[in-house]
Amino acid sequence: MPTGRFAPSPTGEMHLGNLRTALLAWLQARSVGGRVILRFEDLDTGRVRQPAYQSTRDDLHWLGLDWDAEYRQSERLDLYAAALEKLDTYPCACTRSEIQASIQASVGAPHGPEAVYPGTCSDLKNRNPDRLAALRWHVPDERICVSDHWTGETLCQNLKSEVGDFVLRRGDGVYAYHLAVVVDDFEMGITDVLRGADLWTAAPRQAALQQALGYPTPAYWHVPLMQDFRGERLAKRGGAPSVRALREGGADPAVLRAELAGSLYGKTGERTSLDELLEHFSQNS
Ligand code: GLU
Repeated sequence: MPTGRFAPSPTGEMHLGNLRTALLAWLQARSVGGRVILRFEDLDTGRVRQPAYQSTRDDLHWLGLDWDAEYRQSERLDLYAAALEKLDTYPCACTRSEIQASIQASVGAPHGPEAVYPGTCSDLKNRNPDRLAALRWHVPDERICVSDHWTGETLCQNLKSEVGDFVLRRGDGVYAYHLAVVVDDFEMGITDVLRGADLWTAAPRQAALQQALGYPTPAYWHVPLMQDFRGERLAKRGGAPSVRALREGGADPAVLRAELAGSLYGKTGERTSLDELLEHFSQNS
């Protein structure tokens, strides 16, 4: 059965960008008669704000969205531990500055947008015995390609040379986003991952993990991020207005639906229903 998901991090109130991604994920799944899952990505407990769980649900319901099942990653740690066991990892207790120094020392290191982890700690001699070790994954040395259904683009990466061995469990024991997301997307039967375009470059890492764990790769849809009037991406930190404030201030969800999704379909009306958007979605995707 087609299954989509919305995976908010309950670290604060939702802003319009989060709500638009949720709306599009809901439209994508429902337009093909699929299920929708709400998954709270709350592994980094230090950043979680308890009221955010309920305000997220209230915001989604207010826009008219519903879902068939709800999960919290913080209640699924055994699954991540079991997946980690199956992967070839090694402890890394290097400090950030040690890693930085070895990046600078490595001859011919590629200077892409992300610094490549050069394997500083794959040599166990480098371990600092009194530091808590993170677990890094020996990434495969091969080209991994992922295609996107929203943009039609394909992204290929060799993780060994372009990313390096990345962390699957932090030194403080928190499972990394990439591991949790891949395990959950599989366990929850997610067939379509619709999320913000900021996660597009994460897709090859996640596809590589899926391959290593024997999971299928879902269809990816990376949607544009909303921008503020300065052309900067909306962010909780940047002071974007919260959906709760709009909701409690008496905003009309039908107007908001038109603003959030209508523009993507060239729709000019001032208000819109979910049914109308579903129709646009099925015709245009
Ligand atoms: N939890 C992530 C976020 O709030 C989304 C992760 C995903 O969709 O894969 O940005």
